[in-house]
Amino acid sequence: MPIKSQAIRKNSQAKALSIGYPQIKNITASMTTPKKVLAVIASLFVLYAISDIVSVDADAHSNTEELVLNQSQLIPIPSTPLMSFAESGLVGSEQFVEKIVTVKKGQTLSGIFTDMGLSQSLLLKIAHFNEDSKKLVKVMPGNDLHFTMTAEGDLVQLRYQASAFEELIVHNDMEQLSTELVTHDQQIRLVSAEGTIENSLFGAGKAAGLTDSMVMQLANIFSWDIDFVLEIRSGDAFSLIYEQVYKDGEYLMDGKILAASFTNQGTKYEAVYFEQDEGDGAYYAADGRAMKKAFLRAPLNFSYISSSFNPKRLHPVTKRVKAHRGIDYSAPVGTPVYAAGNGRVMQAGYNKFNGNYVFVQHPNGIVTKYLHFSKRAVKKGQKVKQGQTIGYVGATGMVTGAHLHYEFIYNGVHRNPRTVSLPKSKPLPDAVMPDFLTYSTPLLMRLSDMKEQIVVQN
Ligand SMILES: [Zn+2]
Repeated sequence: MPIKSQAIRKNSQAKALSIGYPQIKNITASMTTPKKVLAVIASLFVLYAISDIVSVDADAHSNTEELVLNQSQLIPIPSTPLMSFAESGLVGSEQFVEKIVTVKKGQTLSGIFTDMGLSQSLLLKIAHFNEDSKKLVKVMPGNDLHFTMTAEGDLVQLRYQASAFEELIVHNDMEQLSTELVTHDQQIRLVSAEGTIENSLFGAGKAAGLTDSMVMQLANIFSWDIDFVLEIRSGDAFSLIYEQVYKDGEYLMDGKILAASFTNQGTKYEAVYFEQDEGDGAYYAADGRAMKKAFLRAPLNFSYISSSFNPKRLHPVTKRVKAHRGIDYSAPVGTPVYAAGNGRVMQAGYNKFNGNYVFVQHPNGIVTKYLHFSKRAVKKGQKVKQGQTIGYVGATGMVTGAHLHYEFIYNGVHRNPRTVSLPKSKPLPDAVMPDFLTYSTPLLMRLSDMKEQIVVQN
């Protein structure tokens, strides 16, 4: 049934309610629970510091917010294109029309309302009606908006899945607004897993029941200490305790890692997720020092490399500190290359030796150089943040194959970026340390116990 277009009232206050670009993470919400994880759940003891099932208030989203972004990918929304008055239990025999709009990148709520023949003043009225209706403004590309309209094109109801656990329903009854917030129960369960690397990190992760995105989460925690491209060896081991999010008792997705350890070539690293203030969480080592440091060990997205890991790579043939004093990372063309630390782009250009190159100036007299890009992603003079993509692996310039050539220069002297000693990160303030230790000690003990049990079993 066609929707009659309504005259659009021009309102100078009706600014476009812009829809932000999505911070959509690709989360593989695997619905299968591998046997191993089940076994681990079964054997998981209640931790002293935290109970193993933490019921979270529906509006306390701090735990899961970053993961619950593209709701439409996780839960199929049934489409009910046409609904009669009788069916919807509303008045009369007149028909309602339900239209589902999937928000596209760059679209605004204001534009969507215009397309639907609805006025900007109605949008503003809804957006400012109450705290619940404000959630509509946070709509993101990929989200669905369900409009229920009269045959005359007037809005009767607007539904929007504000998060995995909340559905907002705005009723518009003869210009009288009311809202409803339907919430679902959310439970966080803690799961532990461990593994030993034989051929690849991702392979070991899979064997331990972890999704690839969980393996990446794990590796990212240690990416300031371990070079996951060149330093991973057979026999390296990991263990972790992480969250699984359940909705109304059913597994929805993985949450964050609460504690993890990684043993790389005999050196054990441990990290615990800790919030100094609510919502301000980060990973800290057992001594309270931040895991995050001034420079990443390997300035590129290792998932591109590690996912196609082969035993040869465990004994890297390309790992050579050559006369040209850099490190070469063999990687597929197009692998994102990151700024190893915060700084400013000194140079970004092309020549026949370096191909496409970027040099970054960091504080304390440190310069990093990146050569042979297929494409540069930054310009000279630009500020860059650690982990920001500055270009893509390529084979431009004097090269025999696709790789990233990386140099680390300290006060004009070339250093091996993987062995140069850098200032340690700051520890947590003394005042916070007792809280941190109370929280982290049982978690880390649990991680060590997991390892010991495994040794005993073998
Ligand atoms: Zn090189």
